Amino acid sequence: THFGFQTVPEGEKAEKVYKVFESVAKKYDVMNDAMSLGIHRLWKDTLLHIMNPQPGLRLLDTAGGTGDISFRFLEYTRSMYDRQQRLRAKSHQTPSWQDITDHYVSDDAGPPRSCAVVCDINKEMLKVGKQRAEKAGITTGLSWVVGNAEELPFDDDQFDIYTIAFGIRNVTHIEQALQEAFRVLKPGGRFMCLEFSKVTNPLLARLYDTYSFQMIPVLGEVIAGDWKSYQYLVESIRKFPDQETFKEMIEDAGFFCVQYFNLTGGIVAIHSGFKL
Ligand code: SAM
Repeated sequence: THFGFQTVPEGEKAEKVYKVFESVAKKYDVMNDAMSLGIHRLWKDTLLHIMNPQPGLRLLDTAGGTGDISFRFLEYTRSMYDRQQRLRAKSHQTPSWQDITDHYVSDDAGPPRSCAVVCDINKEMLKVGKQRAEKAGITTGLSWVVGNAEELPFDDDQFDIYTIAFGIRNVTHIEQALQEAFRVLKPGGRFMCLEFSKVTNPLLARLYDTYSFQMIPVLGEVIAGDWKSYQYLVESIRKFPDQETFKEMIEDAGFFCVQYFNLTGGIVAIHSGFKL
C-alpha cells in the first residue's frame, strides 16, 4: 500500500514513484498483506462502510492500482441492491404506486448499474489489476484508465464518488490532485481519501515507530528485494500532513462538510468531503 517519496527532489519524485510501482506491481498485493498483517483489508472495508454507496453510482478510483477499492465498491453496491430487493419483497403485501413503478422500471432496465473506473499512472499496476478482475470474474461495470491524478483525463462533473487510497502521498502536487478531484466530481459528489496519518495514542505511536522503522524495510528486502523503497515509505508517512492539516487542504480545494475518521489509533485516516 505504501510508497511515497517526499525526500527526493520534486522534479524526480514522479519518475521515482513510477519506477517503484512498475517493479513491485506483481508483488504489490502480497506486500500489502505482509506489511499491514492483513489489516489494510479492514481499512478498505471501512472506507466502503462509511461511503455506503447506493446502486447506480459512478466511482472514480484514482491511484487505484490493482483495483482493491473498485472491487469492493462493485461488490458492495451489488449486495446492497439484492438486500433492497429482498426487503421490498418482504415488507409489502399490497404494492404501493411507487412499488409498481419501481418494478416496472427495474423489469425494463434491470438493476441500476454501478460502475467503477480505476485510474492509475502506472500501466503495470493496472495490468495486474485487470488480471485479478478476470480471475474473479468481474466483467461488467469496471474500466481501467491510465492517467495522472494531477491532470485527470476526464471531463468536468462526471463522477458521484472519487476515492484515492494510499495514493495521495505519492502525488507530487497534492493541491493540484485535490483540485482535479473537485473538478471531475458532480455537484453533490463525494471525495474520500484513505491514507496513513498521525498516530494519536503515544504508546501506540512508539510501538508503530519501532515496527515501521525496523520491520518494514526488512520485509521489503525479503519479499520484494527492495530495501530502499520501503525505507522511503516509512519516511514519507511521517512527512504527510496530519489529519487537521490535510482536512484544511481539502477545504481549500473547495470541498464542504470535510471530516475525518481515525482508524487503528490514527495509523490511517479516512477524509471525506462534498462538492456542493
Ligand atoms: N489504491 C490502491 C490500493 O489501495 O491498494 C493502490 C495504492 S498504491 C500504494 C499507490 C498507487 O498510486 C500506485 O498504483 C501508483 O502507480 C499510483 N500513483 C502514484 N502517483 C500517481 C499519480 N500522480 N497519478 C495516479 N496514480 C498515481
